[in-house]
Amino acid sequence: MFIPKRILFMKGSLEYELGKQIYAYFKDNRQVEIVKLGHHGIKSNIPGDNIAEFYRHGKRTLVVGIRKGLQFQSCKPSAHYQLPLLSGCIGQCEYCYLNTNLGDKPYMRVNVNVDKILEQAGKYIEERLPEETIFEGSATSDPIPVEPYSHSLKQAIQYFSKTEKGRFRFATKFTDVDTLLDVDHGGHTEVRFSLNTDRVIQDFETGTPLMSKRIEAAKKIISAEYPTGFLIAPVFLYNNWQNDYRNMLEQLKDVLPKKTVYPVTFEVISHRYTPRAKDIITKIFPDTKLPMDNEERTYKYGQFGYGKYLYQKEELEKIKSFFQEVIPAIFPDGVVKYII
Ligand code: SF4
Repeated sequence: MFIPKRILFMKGSLEYELGKQIYAYFKDNRQVEIVKLGHHGIKSNIPGDNIAEFYRHGKRTLVVGIRKGLQFQSCKPSAHYQLPLLSGCIGQCEYCYLNTNLGDKPYMRVNVNVDKILEQAGKYIEERLPEETIFEGSATSDPIPVEPYSHSLKQAIQYFSKTEKGRFRFATKFTDVDTLLDVDHGGHTEVRFSLNTDRVIQDFETGTPLMSKRIEAAKKIISAEYPTGFLIAPVFLYNNWQNDYRNMLEQLKDVLPKKTVYPVTFEVISHRYTPRAKDIITKIFPDTKLPMDNEERTYKYGQFGYGKYLYQKEELEKIKSFFQEVIPAIFPDGVVKYII
C-alpha cells in the first residue's frame, strides 16, 4: 500500500466523500505532510531542482484532485476508452512509458469525482449499444497501491458489474488486492498482472513487488473468479533468459488454482523504446543499465507516427518461438493473445 510522504489536496477535493475519506485516513499520521492547495501549486509543493530529483520526490507524493474535462481519451487497441480515475504510479520502473507520457507529473493522482466519471462511462456505453464498450483503468497509472484507501477500483468494478455492455480492465504489478476479493464483479472486470523475472525486477523495476508476491496476488484474484491475464513485459534478452522466464511460468503454474472459471490469458511484449523515451530515461536514471544501444536494435515506424527501437528480427523470432512453445506446454488451457 502506498503511504505517501506528502498529500496535496487540490481545491474543492475535500468537499467530496472520497477526499474526506483520504484526509481522515492520513490526518493523524505524522509521517505524512498534508497540504491544502489553492487553484494551483502542485509542482511548487514537490521539491527537486532537476528532473531526477523532482521525479523521486514526485513518486512519494499523492495528489487528490477533481477530474475536470469528462471527455475520455480513446485507448486502442486494448479498450475503447481510458477510465480517468487515477494517474501516475509509485513504481520506478526505468523503462516505464509513464516517464515519457507523464514525465512532468510523476506523482500519483486520485480523482475524487468517481460518481461523475462513472456516469460519463455510462453515456459512452449507451452510445455504442448494442456493442460492448471496454474501459481501461490503467492506461496512465498502476491503480492498485492506493486502492486500500481510495476504493475507486472497487466502485468501478461494482458499477460495471451492473451494466450489460460495459466492461472494465486494468493491469498491475502490485499486490494490494484484498479489498477487491469480495466485490460482486459479475465477470465484467478483467485483472492483468504484469510479471517479469526476478533479475529484471531487481535491475529495472525499483519499488515494485517481487515476482512471487505478484503471483500470490494473482492467485487471490483468480480464486475470486475474476477473468485474469498475465502481461509478460517487457521481455529482455540476457544470459539464461529462457531459463528464467520458464521458471517464472512454472512457478506461476504451481501457485495458481488448478481450475479457473475463465481461461488465463497471456500477452508477451519484448522490450522497445522510442528516441524520446531514451532521452528522458537517461536524464531520470543517469546510471541506467537498460539495454538501449540503437546499433543493436532495429528501428520500426509505428501506427502513431513515431518509431521505436525493437530487438533485431532474429531475436524477436527467438522470443516468439520460445513463448509460443513454453506457454502452451505449461498452461495447456491458457490463451496466448499475442507475442510481439
Ligand atoms: Fe510504470 Fe507499471 Fe512500473 Fe508503475 S509499475 S512505474 S506503471 S511500469
